[in-house]
Amino acid sequence: MSNELKLDTLHNWLNIKSKPLIIAGPCSAESEEQVMEVAKALATSGKVSMYRAGVWKPRTRPGAFEGKATEGLSWLNKVKQETGLPVTVEVANPKHVEEALKFGIDVLWIGARTTVNPFYVQEIAEALKGIDIPVLVKNPIHPELQLWIGALERFNKIGINKLAAIHRGFYSYRKSEYRNLPQWEIPIALKVECPDLPVICDPSHISGKADMIEEVAQKAIDLNMDGLMIETHPNPSQALSDAKQQITPQKLIEILNNLKIRETHSENLEFENLLEQFRNEINEIDVELLRVLEQRMDIVEKIGSYKYKNNVAIFQLERWAEILKTRKATGYKLGLSDEFIQSIFQLIHSESIRIQTEVTKEKKKSSS
Ligand code: PEP
Ligand code: MN
Repeated sequence: MSNELKLDTLHNWLNIKSKPLIIAGPCSAESEEQVMEVAKALATSGKVSMYRAGVWKPRTRPGAFEGKATEGLSWLNKVKQETGLPVTVEVANPKHVEEALKFGIDVLWIGARTTVNPFYVQEIAEALKGIDIPVLVKNPIHPELQLWIGALERFNKIGINKLAAIHRGFYSYRKSEYRNLPQWEIPIALKVECPDLPVICDPSHISGKADMIEEVAQKAIDLNMDGLMIETHPNPSQALSDAKQQITPQKLIEILNNLKIRETHSENLEFENLLEQFRNEINEIDVELLRVLEQRMDIVEKIGSYKYKNNVAIFQLERWAEILKTRKATGYKLGLSDEFIQSIFQLIHSESIRIQTEVTKEKKKSSS
């Protein structure tokens, strides 16, 4: 369904040439001085393609700094005039859209707390009917791929073809080193469903802390993401929002200089040949893996009917505990991680239970 997204390529927008596309600027526009200081540092570096700053801030609790609204938009307009950098701002309702357009904002972005709600997204999309402006859509707070794609489709349906997704991670109750879990499999699944859609990673909101930005940014580049959005502030510890995760423009430039940009393909024939050889080996091993799994599931089916005949329950806790323990021990000897063995056997085990449940149902039906 989403493959039907009609998209302009990212590099047609605003004549942006660099890959990865780098968007930087403060979490919030706080004062004209702060906005301009960051903008000048970024513009002179020549490393940044777009300037970001929030002027309406969606805060979790009331009473926190909620942004400078229209006043902030006038500073962003000044950034555009004085540095030539295109500017982007978060919009969360049609009124924001109207204001942002009045101030010549070049690109709009939809925040994570807005993407979750199809009513809000639809209203914003309708406010943009007939307007040719790029829109960046952050992932919803929770990892629901179809809701993310749905928001992109709403903009596409009203005629916006300059679209990109921003991966900013997902809220979790689980305690973690990240502020928002990256769950890289979700932006990867998005790329699989929408191959032409640019996906930009936001390491700031994933990390939640300044010293993790570089690692997350490199990971995003290694996964062939199309760009990065990174929060920068002249004096991060004094920032009025997201103080812990902001970095100075100097630090950003250092990180960008250290980034290892990888190619999707290599011109080196020897490399391509060897890669193909490795991939062929993997293809054969995968077929072997599937054959072995099929054999395992055949036995599971036999066990299912045997348990049914003997009136024994499908699940035995001790057996499951023993499987996990022994497989992890074997895995350890083979250099396979505990987590990997745990996830793979959880999957195999739940499929075994599903098969045995089916067998039991069929036996019951045929005996009744
Ligand atoms: C932001 O980019 O400052 C922001 C509020 O992000 P998110 O919507 O990802 O929380
Ligand atoms: Mn922020």
